[in-house]
Amino acid sequence: MAVRQLRMYDDEILRKQCKEVTVIDEKVKRLIDDMVETLYTKADAAGLAACQVGVLKQIVVIDMGEGLLKLINPKIIAVDGTQECVEGCLSFPGRVGKTIRPQKVTIQALNENGDSFEMTGEGELAKCFCHEIDHLNGKLFLDEVIEFIDLNE
Ligand code: ZN
Repeated sequence: MAVRQLRMYDDEILRKQCKEVTVIDEKVKRLIDDMVETLYTKADAAGLAACQVGVLKQIVVIDMGEGLLKLINPKIIAVDGTQECVEGCLSFPGRVGKTIRPQKVTIQALNENGDSFEMTGEGELAKCFCHEIDHLNGKLFLDEVIEFIDLNE
């Protein structure tokens, strides 16, 4: 495993569409392992999308403190309710803002064995699903911010 370099700020790759993974081979599994290792170098990190380490593949890793999730080709298939969130991003250290996200989000994804599964997250996990899946479509939380929060206050 290896820590990969994070893509930050106005790096063009963060605005590109990630491609669907068609074959889950050793290269993809190594990428996922590296993403996990990179995620765990940041103490307050919850999730990481492949484009944030410079790879345009639809892969996300999430750990909200309740176990590691590895999502391949994740899609949102249902949402319910709304919540006000406080949101940041590993690619934008120091920037935090309020966003409105669904309260409950159901996703469908593949695991590392290529098996399809569904999962529903509420609250912080619902926010994280939206944030990371947005990354795969070249969208950033900055697009959703209704008010930036000054961390120096
Ligand atoms: Zn992010």
